[in-house]
Amino acid sequence: MTDEKVLEVNGLHAVFRIQKKEYEVLHDISFTVHRNETVCIVGESGCGKSVTTLCVMGLLPKNGRVTEGSIQLDGNELTHLNDDQIRKYRGSKMGMIFQEPMTALNPLLTIGYQLRENLMLHRGVDKKTAEQMAIEYLNKVGIANAPSRMKQYPFQLSGGLRQRILIAMVLSAQPDLLIADEPTTALDVTIQKQVLTLLNGLKKDMNAGILFITHDLGVVAEIADRVIVLYAGRKVEEGSTEQIFTHPAHPYTIGLMNAVPDVDKDGDDMEPIPGMFPNITEVIPGCRFNPRCPHAAECSLCKQEVPSLTEIEPGHYAACHLVKKEVQP
Ligand code: SF4
Repeated sequence: MTDEKVLEVNGLHAVFRIQKKEYEVLHDISFTVHRNETVCIVGESGCGKSVTTLCVMGLLPKNGRVTEGSIQLDGNELTHLNDDQIRKYRGSKMGMIFQEPMTALNPLLTIGYQLRENLMLHRGVDKKTAEQMAIEYLNKVGIANAPSRMKQYPFQLSGGLRQRILIAMVLSAQPDLLIADEPTTALDVTIQKQVLTLLNGLKKDMNAGILFITHDLGVVAEIADRVIVLYAGRKVEEGSTEQIFTHPAHPYTIGLMNAVPDVDKDGDDMEPIPGMFPNITEVIPGCRFNPRCPHAAECSLCKQEVPSLTEIEPGHYAACHLVKKEVQP
């Protein structure tokens, strides 16, 4: 990791309009991604992790909007840009890898055509140079027989190969920020491992920052430098990967850890987090996690006051009344 900030999100708030009423989906989200750093946002479905990336990419659905806060890419504010302006950043300054590569690859065009077009558009090279560079990028992501792969269509390739090709295409534009939203979820475990190893290796090569979204703590352990845990649209914990995995502080993070099956023990020790994830229209006074928290009865503030983020050790933050109490007795 370097000190150079690629992405800086500050005090981000976003709402979705549902039946003429606006509901908050992100509340005061702040984080930074540096060059050569992978920041993972983790949490259950609906926690706000994908909405955060949609805000960064300027791809919120029509019923969503950013109401407050700032998103800076290489020091340039993105929240004020219109669709045309932000489109210029997508694909060039920020590259995106999604769970299903077919959403980004054109099924009617060969891999070679798509890679060449991308290189000619973003790197300003001629067709012949683009052809050579495309082969180099395919080699870089570990695709053998690159010249013959170039002649194939996406449907002729496996999911793992398609994901590698999408990564090659994204990298070939030399983005400063790579946004990966559950890129390995649809892949089997062996291919998933290969793609994660590839991204880890490419991080330095690319000299870019990676914002990685996942619900899978196993993936987080493999790839993250820093981890942000979201619950119901709020950041509840942030720390280095070591801090989060060796001494998680927030009961929700601890619940996520306990919910991961231990393959050596047939998953017998797995403890799912009790209760249901709240929907966005639900009003929960105090800490949003209190209906599911095993410690909520220990503190009268849990049902009354929203806990604020507190630094519990250098670089490690948690939003929980009990954590606060222990640190500031
Ligand atoms: Fe649980 Fe209370 Fe901490 Fe919320 S503030 S996580 S309810 S102990």
